[in-house]
Amino acid sequence: MIRTRFAPSPTGYIHIGNVRSAIYPYLLARQGHGDFILRIEDTDQARYVEGATKLIEETLAWIGMQWDEGPIVGGPNAPYFQSERKAIYHQWAQKLIDMGRAYADDTSSEQIQKYREECAKNKVPYLYRNFRPENPPAWHEGLPLRFRADPKPRKWHDEVIGDLEAGPEVQDDIILIKADGLPTYNFAHIVDDAEMGVTHVMRGVEYLSSTPNYLALYEAFGLNVPRLVSLPHILAPTGNKKLGKRDGAKSVTEYREDGVLAEAMLNYLACLGWNDGTEQEIYTMEELVQRFSLAKIQTSGARYDETKLLWMNGQWIRKIFDEEGVDALYERTLGFWPAAADAYDDSYRKAVLSILYDRLKTLSDLREMTTYFFTDPVIDLDLIVNNKFLKKFSEEELSDMLQISSHKLEKLDDWQADKLQTALNELLEETGKKPAELFSIIRIALSFAPFSPALHLTMNVLGKNVTLARLQKVVTALEND
Ligand code: GLU
Repeated sequence: MIRTRFAPSPTGYIHIGNVRSAIYPYLLARQGHGDFILRIEDTDQARYVEGATKLIEETLAWIGMQWDEGPIVGGPNAPYFQSERKAIYHQWAQKLIDMGRAYADDTSSEQIQKYREECAKNKVPYLYRNFRPENPPAWHEGLPLRFRADPKPRKWHDEVIGDLEAGPEVQDDIILIKADGLPTYNFAHIVDDAEMGVTHVMRGVEYLSSTPNYLALYEAFGLNVPRLVSLPHILAPTGNKKLGKRDGAKSVTEYREDGVLAEAMLNYLACLGWNDGTEQEIYTMEELVQRFSLAKIQTSGARYDETKLLWMNGQWIRKIFDEEGVDALYERTLGFWPAAADAYDDSYRKAVLSILYDRLKTLSDLREMTTYFFTDPVIDLDLIVNNKFLKKFSEEELSDMLQISSHKLEKLDDWQADKLQTALNELLEETGKKPAELFSIIRIALSFAPFSPALHLTMNVLGKNVTLARLQKVVTALEND
């Protein structure tokens, strides 16, 4: 049975890459009807950030990835916080001590610095094991505990990269337990993965270089090596660097606050380093679970592209509206409307959403894009007189165009969108103006915004009174200019 884990360190900021490291193990576990474990790797006290675990839990829950074992839900291998598993690591460490495979390290940091300098002078790589003490003291807390390496050629298989091998020169006496009594990542994850029955260790490719040391530990404990799966780096939008905080990528929380949907985030990240070999780009969670395969994870770095993420979010906004209806999408938009929208009821806001949802890239676009549905826009005649379709007309001609339109619309009793469309078409004939001319001036007069949905729909939602009042105001402004 497949058992995978996501093992984040609670350092506060949830990077895009952290979440992708959760998605692949999650998909694999669900596909194999196995278990997905959440384990909090909080042994590095210097990097610990209060509240970070909660942020991790909320992020997973938001994306829709329920863990089967871990914080909150518990499980047979509790506790799932490494800081609470100290006794377990010490028991495992004791096994190595008893086998003669671990020893206390009382070398001072000054001494270690000297060893390093000596190696640098002689142009040889620094390996602690070359300075391994002959008679180390008995181990007690307060002293680091080191592994006694057994350097030799090692071969292994990585599910993404393929067959690999490394020589003895990369294997060292790594620290297992630090002076503060807590284990290193290198040691703790081996113990935990073994105790928790993890079958697939899926993590960033940056752990590849340490794998020979991990293999030595598995061997010393007589453990079967789990399947090793190295996930490709996520690259910054340009160049060959890994994506970092400064590359314009926001944290997952920020994207969420900006109105990126969980479905889009999942979809985008799942495809950042994996594809099923088809042209398909939009996947639901169910489809991802079905289609995911280790063999299709790419070896090369995956380039982060925010434009693509936002495009995908737009696709998801449409998908929810088209497949689940306006109510389903509307629920997601709560909290993203301009403040002025509070004075309006749900049905009005839904009507607004229905005519412009297909223009949204993020839900927070609603704030800017819908203001004129809730407050009268500030009249800015420059937008009219400098408009590329309108600048050839005098202010008087412009005012006439609005006047004629206003009179005609006033007579319209049935304010339905199709009736409005007919009226607008008749106005084109009556005024002899081109659609770009007549519709631009009406559109600007109603919204003073760079974008508005189709005119007949906008007028339908604004209603007759508001539409006529706004047209009249602009007529007056043009006349008094
Ligand atoms: N705590 C490690 C990290 O956040 C996890 C690596 C792993 O998945 O084993 O990078």
